[in-house]
Amino acid sequence: MDRPTSASKTEALPSLRDSLDAHGLLAKKSFGQHFLLDLNVTRKIVRLAGPFDGRAVIEVGPGPGGLTRALLESDAGSVVLVEKDPRFLPLLGELDDGTGRLRIVEGDALKVREADLVEGPTHLVSNLPYNVGTPLLIKWLTGPWTPHALTLMFQKEVAERIVAAPGDDAYGRLAVISQAVADARLVMHLPAAAFTPPPKVASAVVHLIPRPDRPAAETLKRLERVTAAAFGQRRKMLRSSLKTLGGAALCEAAGISPEDRAEVIDLAGFLRLAAAIK
Ligand code: SAM
Repeated sequence: MDRPTSASKTEALPSLRDSLDAHGLLAKKSFGQHFLLDLNVTRKIVRLAGPFDGRAVIEVGPGPGGLTRALLESDAGSVVLVEKDPRFLPLLGELDDGTGRLRIVEGDALKVREADLVEGPTHLVSNLPYNVGTPLLIKWLTGPWTPHALTLMFQKEVAERIVAAPGDDAYGRLAVISQAVADARLVMHLPAAAFTPPPKVASAVVHLIPRPDRPAAETLKRLERVTAAAFGQRRKMLRSSLKTLGGAALCEAAGISPEDRAEVIDLAGFLRLAAAIK
């Protein structure tokens, strides 16, 4: 592994704000740009994400590079950046110390094939663009390439939906699918004022570790069907919200009361319902 960039080297760089000014860069709403310009905050996120023990890290949406600087100071073996806004590439290039540890890829994270970028167990760390946060999470949890761990900033409301338990207001499809695949913990809250420019809502960081025994792709597809139907009409009893999938008979086959509502069914219950679909 190449040597991490020392904190003193990072501190010798211009401040993130000066870098943005020097490159004449302003945040664009269409790219979901809300920057973290305080290295104390980005270092804390990287500490929560690690240790990386020399493994690769993909950072989606590095923008001005606040998280990137903290990642380069860490024990990551390599850091691969995927940024859609080409305006940031020259600024990010200034973080490259020539050791080959940093790779900058211009692209859309929704379309990128991660397996083409990295080899071996890889962490994902990102202050996600809010407009594509949920589809990116679903891609990484249910797609063909699985990260070793994910440490991701979301709008607080989305973070709460990922970690919610049965009976919580936020419990729904996202909780069931995420928790079927990974152990998910909310590890940090950040107020809107921590970002430049501040978004309208607060944020939170979720740390997810995909489980070795996660369900196969076919089971996940079934789980998506049953949770879509059950939470699509969350106030109805399952015998009626799941009517098209088998209604009361399906519930009985899964050992679940047809009079229950989706919000009280735990992950094991949804997995039994998914397995019982004919
Ligand atoms: N990581 C930086 C930080 O914390 O200051 C910037 C975070 S900002 C919330 C989101 C970043 O994602 C922006 O740099 C934006 O250009 C980039 N972005 C937006 N959509 C993207 C996509 N589909 N693929 C890759 N990057 C994207």
